[in-house]
Amino acid sequence: MKLDTKAMRHLTSEDWRVLTAVEMGSRNHEIVPTPLIERISRVRGGASSVHRSISNLAKVGLIARVKEAKYDGYRLTYGGLDYLALHTYASRKEIYSVGSRIGVGKESDIMIVADSTGTQKVLKIHRLGRISFRTVKTNRDYLKNRQSGSWMYLSRLAAMKEFAFMQALKEEGFPVPDPIAQSRHTILMTLIDAHPMRQISAVPDPAGLYAELIDLILRFAKHGLIHGDFNEFNILIKEEKEAKDDPAAISESSPNDTQGAEETMKLTPIVIDFPQMISMEHQNAEMYFDRDVNCIKRFFERRFHFKSTRPGPFFKDAKKTMGKHGAKRLDASAEASGFTKKMLKDLEAAIREQAGSIEDGGVLENDSESDGEEGEEEEDTDDEQSEGGSEEQNVPLFADDAVLHDTGDLQA
Ligand code: ADP
Ligand code: MG
Repeated sequence: MKLDTKAMRHLTSEDWRVLTAVEMGSRNHEIVPTPLIERISRVRGGASSVHRSISNLAKVGLIARVKEAKYDGYRLTYGGLDYLALHTYASRKEIYSVGSRIGVGKESDIMIVADSTGTQKVLKIHRLGRISFRTVKTNRDYLKNRQSGSWMYLSRLAAMKEFAFMQALKEEGFPVPDPIAQSRHTILMTLIDAHPMRQISAVPDPAGLYAELIDLILRFAKHGLIHGDFNEFNILIKEEKEAKDDPAAISESSPNDTQGAEETMKLTPIVIDFPQMISMEHQNAEMYFDRDVNCIKRFFERRFHFKSTRPGPFFKDAKKTMGKHGAKRLDASAEASGFTKKMLKDLEAAIREQAGSIEDGGVLENDSESDGEEGEEEEDTDDEQSEGGSEEQNVPLFADDAVLHDTGDLQA
């Protein structure tokens, strides 16, 4: 689903109040009845003004009328939730403009955004529940009980969990982007100037990089965690020039170097993508741990023709290091940061379903929530995730003199 910010500038303060009211109403209502929207938004112009806003919002696809309902009502679309998140970031001066989409994942859209100083950042928009399960034969419990509003709940959980883990990992010194802010189903983080390992055809020292990645897996384990999707898409390789200060090495390796100092490339892996992280004490921990290790092994063999002579690392050894030498248990701290067991379970089931449904031949299709958008094909673009070349680069969200509408006084 594309993030189209065009309509943003044209929304009136009443429209924003009504949109916020629909969001608040959907906490307890799958379909928010129109009278409830009126009551929550308390727009000055009364019911007719609310109706005008409702029709404005529906026209640009931020809310959708639900026709088959017993009563007249609306629900928020992904577009509506996107706008609310952007509005929040804009009012906190964290985002000023939205640029191009750099990634379309199975469960997210990745956008380049910028603040008013022009500093670029990455906005990750979680989109769980975007998959159509049409072709999946088995009728799973999760789907049976799926409420139409749950995409919002699940995507929000994914963002909250990812943000909490990024913060915890950053604090422990892991190489991850800086988490900046979180709103609803989105997180804002620093832009890493690097490509996924998937796009790298050769490295000078495969053994060194391999060792570093395995070491990261073991460091996660020491803190009680398994990444759970530790693959070539989720490891960005940063190239940094590094001056060699060994004079002997300079004269030997590049005798013709008239600059006098040789530069080598230092490759640093930066890890991203954390909504699926799990505890080393998860019942399937060993399987996930082995899968992460094997992903790296397989990739290094295929791509760099490098095979480690050392077996492992093995789960049982990694488990023994958990919490040792003062390593803080991060799996426990995520649970402590407001996640109930049920939330973690719900999210895990959704992520598993989503991954499984693709493997089973389920199709990624246009978000059923985004009525009004037609013909946009959503595909998992595998290696070429980058889109670039967007026509509209860095579109400011609001006009410079725009007053951002404070909807903080609304109460459901
Ligand atoms: P998904 O959960 O959909 O896989 P990811 O978080 O892995 O989403 O991001 C998808 C892609 O977007 C990555 O493979 C990477 O190319 C790009 N990306 C994500 N976050 C950043 C970032 N902070 N800096 C640079 N590129 C990023
Ligand atoms: Mg990813």
